[in-house]
Amino acid sequence: MIKSKALKYAVAAVLVLPAASRGQTESLWDLANENKALLRISTLFTAQNVRDHLSDDEGISKAIDWCEKTGVTHVFLETFRSRYTAERKTLERAKSRFAAAGFEVSGCVTTTQVGKISTEWKLISCYTNKGTQEQLQKIFEYTASIFDEIMIDDFLFTDCLCDECKKACGEESWTDYRCDLMVRVSRERIIKPARAVNPNVKIIIKYPQWYDRFHNRGYEVVRQTADYDKIWVGTETRDFDNKRWGKKVQYEAYYIMRWLGGIGGAKTGGGWFDPYGTTEDTYVEQARQTVLADAKEILLFCYGSLQRDTGPANVEKLRTEIPGLFELAKLVRNRPIRGICAPKPPNSDAHNELYVFDFVGMLGLPLVPASEIDTGAKASFFAVHALKDPGLREKLRKMLTARREVLITDGLAKRLGEFNLEDENLTILKVNGDPYSLLKLNRGELRAIRNRLLRPFGIKFDAPNKVALYLVGEDCLIVENFNDEPVGVSLEFSKPVEAQMVLTLPVDGDVKFSCEQGKLKFAELSPRTLVAVEY
Ligand SMILES: [Zn+2]
Repeated sequence: MIKSKALKYAVAAVLVLPAASRGQTESLWDLANENKALLRISTLFTAQNVRDHLSDDEGISKAIDWCEKTGVTHVFLETFRSRYTAERKTLERAKSRFAAAGFEVSGCVTTTQVGKISTEWKLISCYTNKGTQEQLQKIFEYTASIFDEIMIDDFLFTDCLCDECKKACGEESWTDYRCDLMVRVSRERIIKPARAVNPNVKIIIKYPQWYDRFHNRGYEVVRQTADYDKIWVGTETRDFDNKRWGKKVQYEAYYIMRWLGGIGGAKTGGGWFDPYGTTEDTYVEQARQTVLADAKEILLFCYGSLQRDTGPANVEKLRTEIPGLFELAKLVRNRPIRGICAPKPPNSDAHNELYVFDFVGMLGLPLVPASEIDTGAKASFFAVHALKDPGLREKLRKMLTARREVLITDGLAKRLGEFNLEDENLTILKVNGDPYSLLKLNRGELRAIRNRLLRPFGIKFDAPNKVALYLVGEDCLIVENFNDEPVGVSLEFSKPVEAQMVLTLPVDGDVKFSCEQGKLKFAELSPRTLVAVEY
């Protein structure tokens, strides 16, 4: 408590000091500006934050100061959220003040409670309804009249089951109907009318983090990514143990950011996470995973929420990691990752293996998230999702014939039908329809699986569960301990290497590193710590 009180005074004191005496503050702002082409840090002011925090000059000054101290150089000002529309003059004044202070400024829309409400989730709308479509169009015309870039928060989907939707859906599946509907609504009610108002406008679709259910609710990553100017990714994994927000493992942020990054290519922008249900440690893990997955930007949602509850402590910790996050971004940029190809075809069903990729990543298997099967990959992991590929069996056979290492889930094994599973290069992972159960695998069980799958890379990796491994380019590897206890970790290369540590996060993380011949050892990798090594 004393600590947070002291921080409050420190913040108040900084507000009255002239810019030149800010020292530490200035340096983070300068550092962020120097590195913004590599990794930009942004925040969002929701429509309600615009009203509550940016309606007068004092509020705007306070917000600018907070952003500078946090290394935020890009702000998104939202025009609409949950029936509330921010006022034009407030938005325009805030936009010009931020721009004058050296920020990049963009707009945002959150399509919650637009027009007719869904029969299911009450934040969501019925997009079959013409009235909803017309209101949606007006919101985007308004936003495009103020901003040249507009982000759409991840509520642009539908779960509505009303009579109007049932009639329009007819004999089609809900999945097909909703994907077609949302593609059409995006084209005709968002992109086209916004461009008519502002020919320069660029529109970003932000996909939610729940990638295994996208298509069921009308998010269609192939057509929508082609239609929109940019894509953005939800990486809000929060705290696994939190009762309200939990049950997400950290690796999910990495998997989805890389998976969508592969689909979006040059259109891929950043990742977006929030402070809900987090501690300082799990908050910054979201940032690390997003940057590790090569995001070009991290968005801290949202200014209002970061001023209360766990927000201030989270941000204080994040500020200590920002210099290291720039280093991490440098390590991963333009260095293709290596490892076990882990394809999830777009619009594929997960059946009872929802988000299994996230859990497999937590086992210390370095995944290469992908949207297609790569028969040339040295090692691959397949879950039931792969059945979406009609050529799966043939490709599997080809890979096994070429003696590639293949790991498949027991769920997929059951669904392969006549396929001969007897092959020395094929390993079956027992998921039992419960991906969470993978977090219970012990060190010995994991060692056997890892050694087989890592054999083609000339590496042996030994660590407990919930220690992830990332192979970056030909000469860098990263290990991250997600446990609350220190762990011992070792890595053995088939060839002798010389290795040195190049980054540790948090800054006071302890790893007790040694490297002898081909063997790297972290005798005690402190809790919730990431370490990068070059060799
Ligand atoms: Zn409906």
